Amino acid sequence: MNCGELYNNNGGNFFMIAAVLEAPRRMDLREVEDPVCPEGGLLMKVEASSICSTDIKMYERGQRDLVYPRILGHEISGVVFEEDGAGLQVGDRVQIYPGVYCGSCPYCRRKTENLCEGIRIIGFNLDGGFAEYLSVPEQSVKNGSVNPIPDGLDFEEAALAEPLGCCINSQEMARVQDGDSVLIFGAGPAGLLHAMLARLRGASVVAAAETLDSRARLARSSADLVVNPDRDDLFYLGMDLTGGRGFDVIILASRDVPVASELFSLLAPRGRISLFSGLPPDLASASLDFNRLHYREHMIVGSYGCTPAQNRKALELISGGMDVRRLITERVSLRKIWRGMEHARGRRGLKAVVTDFG
Ligand SMILES: [Zn+2]
Ligand SMILES: [Zn+2]
Repeated sequence: MNCGELYNNNGGNFFMIAAVLEAPRRMDLREVEDPVCPEGGLLMKVEASSICSTDIKMYERGQRDLVYPRILGHEISGVVFEEDGAGLQVGDRVQIYPGVYCGSCPYCRRKTENLCEGIRIIGFNLDGGFAEYLSVPEQSVKNGSVNPIPDGLDFEEAALAEPLGCCINSQEMARVQDGDSVLIFGAGPAGLLHAMLARLRGASVVAAAETLDSRARLARSSADLVVNPDRDDLFYLGMDLTGGRGFDVIILASRDVPVASELFSLLAPRGRISLFSGLPPDLASASLDFNRLHYREHMIVGSYGCTPAQNRKALELISGGMDVRRLITERVSLRKIWRGMEHARGRRGLKAVVTDFG
């Protein structure tokens, strides 16, 4: 990672520090002009921005919705610094739903705003939270994407509402419910959020498949069974755990996933597979036995991001006692963001959060 020299030719304008992704594998820490408070919107002082595996993907090879150059960061909380008729007070603590959606297309009208035909996303094609200040457009304020942080929650916990919201989307799509057995591929931050959420939704059995021993260890307190599919017989252990039925829900929260035929052999009748993680192109195509889906009533569901309502629900769950704090294994300053990016990229611990923007 290339952390460029800071330059100080302020020339009367205000500058802030930001981590700018200029191109794949080129992230510069530099001064950029302060964003202005947009009409009807607000200017936020960022207090916490957590690093997501999508940020790593964007750093390494780009992403469908990413436009360069870009300040990344879409898991953001902070305080209102300036507002222009937004109906908020300077100093209010807020968490931002990063999708800026139109509110009127067929998908917005159905409350699936994450699929909005005209969506722009903070940290993807609008500048995000790896900076001292964030400009939040009027549309976000009007659409209810600026969420007050409940009392008792700190900025770090609030920033994790967005990734938890994405897990809620996946589990609503896959209809995780009371008594379900759930298998999660990947025990990274998203995998563990999924495990905690599945329990809250009433899952009776939660298993995780993880190839990294360090992560497998951290997953043991959240799952009934943690297997290493490189070493263990996942099929045998999974069938043993589910009384020979297979899992009601399988969630792919990792790029390390078996071929489709193996996944379906682990799935109970009426079972659902949630495609939570995007996969690299060489792993993304699969051949399917449609007759197997037909006879066993299997379902496959995709999920991408979350809706603003799911983001709000996530804040409520965290406020209600869901312990997301234990997922944070690294805190860095913006000036040392490369350390947080390496923490996430090397999959050494779990979640890294930028907490100091000075
Ligand atoms: Zn994310
Ligand atoms: Zn729309």
